[in-house]
Amino acid sequence: ATMPPLLSAIANAGRHGVLVKSAVVMEQLGQVDAVALDKTGTLTEGTPRVSDIRPLSGSGLSEGELLSLAASAEHPSEHPLARAVVGAARERGLALPVAEDFSSTPGVGVRATVRGVAVAVGAPARLLDGSGSGEVRSTGAAALAAELEGEGRTAVVVECDGTPVGVLGIADRLRPDAAATVAALAGLTGRAPLLVTGDNPRAAARLAAEVGITDVRAGLLPQDKVAAVREQQQAGRKVLVVGDGVNDAPALAAAHSGLAMGRAGSDLALETADAVIVRDELSTVPTVVALSRRARRLVV
Ligand code: ADP
Ligand code: MG
Repeated sequence: ATMPPLLSAIANAGRHGVLVKSAVVMEQLGQVDAVALDKTGTLTEGTPRVSDIRPLSGSGLSEGELLSLAASAEHPSEHPLARAVVGAARERGLALPVAEDFSSTPGVGVRATVRGVAVAVGAPARLLDGSGSGEVRSTGAAALAAELEGEGRTAVVVECDGTPVGVLGIADRLRPDAAATVAALAGLTGRAPLLVTGDNPRAAARLAAEVGITDVRAGLLPQDKVAAVREQQQAGRKVLVVGDGVNDAPALAAAHSGLAMGRAGSDLALETADAVIVRDELSTVPTVVALSRRARRLVV
């Protein structure tokens, strides 16, 4: 017997390394006419590395001490930035004291108690605004973060008991197929994809320019990514969201179709998404949209 078109499309997607969870999903993929792409782990490889370790001069911390504190707090996190920080500490053979009372906030960062000190590691805009600290106290950290972001890095601030003690710069590589994927999706849907990211506007704008994206939404919390999807839906569009993180899960759920990056994706993103890119090739996104369209033409 010949397989129904949508089922053979699922099999075909599987051969391209994309796990499509149902025939309904396979069909919906071909209906999308707008795409929202996450940055870290989606357009970038998601294996970032610590490039800068900058203790604030008043902190009394050495580079190693700053990195060790941050890595202890980040140790329980599955975020790509957390893995970069822990990896850098391990490479330097630093001791990682065990953290207690760990908590993480998607799109913001982590908190934990390390040797009796309340340590926070996360987005400068969120930590420095939300810390209640005066201009003077956070100026050093904010200026350092802005400097690193201007170089295209993701900056994370480290705080001890609410006081900034240093900034880490983290660099990630663009996926080799990112620009071609953006162009292919623009061709298929008739409009350029949006970039939706929790990262800072400076790093986001730099990367967007490299891949040919002009509509950039940066500094977004998970619910802001949902709002960006809803805005597209209100304009009558069917949105495809591609993401990898816990912070992308609500937007993946709100989208007409949600695709998760499988290799480094968080469990929540993989569960929430309609399809999973197992082989870690971004260029399979336009491939599965095209497969769906072909199958839909055969289904009467
Ligand atoms: P994206 O949307 O680009 O995938 P996220 O929403 O996951 O990015 O993260 C947004 C920002 O929140 C990061 O750039 C970082 O500043 C901060 N952040 C989130 N999680 C962490 C973490 N575990 N450690 C440090 N910073 C974090
Ligand atoms: Mg991400």
